[in-house]
Amino acid sequence: MEIRRGIAVSPGIAIGPALVMDTEGVRIRTTSVPPDQVPAEADRLRVAVAAARVEAERKQRVLAEKFGEEIGSIFEAKGGLYQDEHLIAGIEGLIRANQFSAEYAVSRHIRGVVKRLDAASHMPQAVRLRGDFIDFERGLLALLGGDQRTPLPAVAEPVVVLANDLTPNETAELDTNLVHALATESGGATSHTAILAGALEIPAVVGVGPFLTDVSGADVVIVDGNNGYLILDPDEPTLARYQEARRLERTKSGEHRVTSRNVPAVTRDGVRLTMLGNIEFPGEARHCLDRGAEGVGLYRTEFLYIHKSEDPTEEDHFKAYRAVLEEIGPDKPVVVRTLDLGGDKFANATGRAAQEKNPFLGLRSVRLCLRNLPLFKTQLRAILRASIYGDLRIMFPMIATVMELRQCKSILREVQEDLEESGIPFKPDVPVGTMIEVPSAALVADVLAKQVNFFSIGTNDLVQYTLAADRNNEAVADLYNAADPAVLRLMDLVARAGQAAGIEVNVCGEMSGEPVFAPLLVGLGIRQFSATPRKIPDIKRVVSKLTVPDCERLAAECLRMETASEVTRYLRDYTRRILPEAAD
Ligand code: PEP
Ligand code: MG
Repeated sequence: MEIRRGIAVSPGIAIGPALVMDTEGVRIRTTSVPPDQVPAEADRLRVAVAAARVEAERKQRVLAEKFGEEIGSIFEAKGGLYQDEHLIAGIEGLIRANQFSAEYAVSRHIRGVVKRLDAASHMPQAVRLRGDFIDFERGLLALLGGDQRTPLPAVAEPVVVLANDLTPNETAELDTNLVHALATESGGATSHTAILAGALEIPAVVGVGPFLTDVSGADVVIVDGNNGYLILDPDEPTLARYQEARRLERTKSGEHRVTSRNVPAVTRDGVRLTMLGNIEFPGEARHCLDRGAEGVGLYRTEFLYIHKSEDPTEEDHFKAYRAVLEEIGPDKPVVVRTLDLGGDKFANATGRAAQEKNPFLGLRSVRLCLRNLPLFKTQLRAILRASIYGDLRIMFPMIATVMELRQCKSILREVQEDLEESGIPFKPDVPVGTMIEVPSAALVADVLAKQVNFFSIGTNDLVQYTLAADRNNEAVADLYNAADPAVLRLMDLVARAGQAAGIEVNVCGEMSGEPVFAPLLVGLGIRQFSATPRKIPDIKRVVSKLTVPDCERLAAECLRMETASEVTRYLRDYTRRILPEAAD
């Protein structure tokens, strides 16, 4: 058994056979064969090796003809592995000794070799050899697999997905009836992949570090999304403990959901807060209501780009927004955020983004929209048309300067005029807000506050841009911390600017869904939270234990602290005192 620690990004426990993703999504279905099939399995291996050798020789000839002998000889080296009798005998030995299937034996043996090469990665040959062995494994699995090569969306049986990384697109495609959890080697707590795992409500752990060489497809693994553990090859007692924990968890989460639905978020001293949900797809509007949300505080509309090679039409936008408004009902707000494309989200789907060296600092979000007015106006027309179906509000993301906000508002006015001229109905007084997720916007929040009806603090990006720590990069995960005093000071500035201007200040980053931060946010004057729907019941329970004066004292104390770890410790201790189970 091996226990690996990563970043817990979506709670819950899952136990199941691994679906190990490499870049080609090869899947190993069977780990073992009946004893009488062992000789046939060894033959299957030998046949596949012979075929792979022929293919490698063919590639070598083609490359040599095209680019010369020197390039061709690269393939000669790779193809050499198929002639390495010692290597092939080692794989065959696993089949004969353990009744492994040929695929599983290949994977187990090669992953062992790769692991040893990783340990020697200071040697340049080790890096090259690693690549050769991975290619060798892939080539053989492809040949052995025949029709078993299964791309991720076509998974047919329940699995736990293990990958180096998954794109938001791949994550969104997961069929949660079959994919029970995911764990990745890379990624950070607020990467969009992590956020989507939360939205899909499957346990997830990211940023585990290298583990794919230690696991083969179909091995049983445990993903503990509550504590951030990935457990490979669990022993019997561990398996039994987790099975019991999973059973208890299912019962508990059903009870919470029911109690939270009709209970408002009110502090112990009677201050009413508003709990809203974050969504990526129209279907999640129902999750929001089920979990007791009082509307949608952030609709990430860029997810309309999933599976699209072309831009969604005005009608596509309109239908999605109307569906959400109709589901949520006329009296609850739905904050539609304009497209936040770029960064890690569907940069290629737009067909516009040249390969940017630094996409999070590049043509992302409103920057992209302001340079592509047809794209922007199409969306704004659809949003305005949908506005008559409920309490819709518009929000602009990634605003970095006052000029950008002015430009966005002026385009919105143009679209309103166009609709008016065409006699198309819309609500003329739709509230307009801006996200505060870039430090420059936080610093001029007093100016921005005069020009909008509400703020929404996007802590996911605010943390990354304030601390210059990529939200997707596990290597800087210790630096990326919402509890950092620099982040808190900016949030304090924004909250006070909002109060002075008399506008609502919402927090819609992942921070708002973490129970330990609730006292701090209330103390900073935040009265509206928008979080992944499944987090709402827990936040409501913490809120019910708070009083505003205590929270204000706590926030003042935190703002005086010097380091993120001091703040974190303090908030954990506080939460542990008021509601022990919410502190971890
Ligand atoms: C944020 O940055 O906090 C946010 C809510 O937006 P996103 O996670 O979509 O970037
Ligand atoms: Mg953001």
